[in-house]
Amino acid sequence: MLLRIHTRSERPRGGYPATQRATPSTWLSHPGGTVRVMGRALPYSLSPSSVSSFKECPLAFRFSYLDRLPEPPSPWASKGTLVHRALELLMCRPADDRTVDAALADLDRARAELAEHPEFAGLELSDDDWALFHLDAEALVRRYFELEDPTTVHPIGLELKLQAEIGPVRLRGIIDRLELDADGELVVTDYKTGRVPSELFESKSLGGVHTYALLCEQMLGRRPARVQLLYLSKPEAIIATPTEQSVRGVARKTTALWTAIERACARDDFRPHPSRLCEFCSFKAYCPSFGGDPEQAAELRGPGTVIEPALPLANA
Ligand code: SF4
Repeated sequence: MLLRIHTRSERPRGGYPATQRATPSTWLSHPGGTVRVMGRALPYSLSPSSVSSFKECPLAFRFSYLDRLPEPPSPWASKGTLVHRALELLMCRPADDRTVDAALADLDRARAELAEHPEFAGLELSDDDWALFHLDAEALVRRYFELEDPTTVHPIGLELKLQAEIGPVRLRGIIDRLELDADGELVVTDYKTGRVPSELFESKSLGGVHTYALLCEQMLGRRPARVQLLYLSKPEAIIATPTEQSVRGVARKTTALWTAIERACARDDFRPHPSRLCEFCSFKAYCPSFGGDPEQAAELRGPGTVIEPALPLANA
């Protein structure tokens, strides 16, 4: 019996419910009296992707997770959604039925399921680009079989939603696959459809999976024996063994990051951090590092909508 199944395509872009927690106000002296600086509301929760977004660029984090601005669909992300769904369907089959042909049939089914989804319908691709898109997706599914024999996998949860309170932080995550190994130990698996990171970024990539280990320990009362990233593009597996120390380290770093986010929200201070990721940033036109005005980003929501003022002042 599988645990809760939650399809990736149901996940709201930018995270979960818009409900936000109030941040403490800060107080400043002013010639006209004391003024209260109302900061930006805190996010409802953190996830591995929002944690990584804040670390990479606080301004991009603000746009995505606080302002919740829409982002145009990207072929890379949509292809990932499609392949994840195909592998989810494959794992729902009896073990002996998990063949390459079955996986390709599941890819066709996923393609039909997702055809009308805005993440796919909104892609502006030529017929040739679509053909390439589906060839790539098929190649990723085929390469999955070079990484493991799916008939030996014993999944107990697919697209499994986990949430735990870690100190002051509500931490959430969705595990692609939770399974039991031959010794009955828990294993967390995350499929990756992007490029394999260099050794320099390997531990950073595993950060999200260690977060899943922490969530498992908190919610299921057991630390996974293994966490693994299956990079389908090469293919290559990056495998780590969570320890008491690594899990405590994730908890400590998450709490520290939450403090940094609280501070940024209280001061409404989300600075851009230019990097090679700017090339893929949906908000580059509104980024001061590239001559843009962040407050104009509200226009991404369409006419008649505004973002809250960046730093509203209220007389005390
Ligand atoms: S363009 Fe770069 S620096 Fe600017 S918001 Fe995006 S990621 Fe951050």
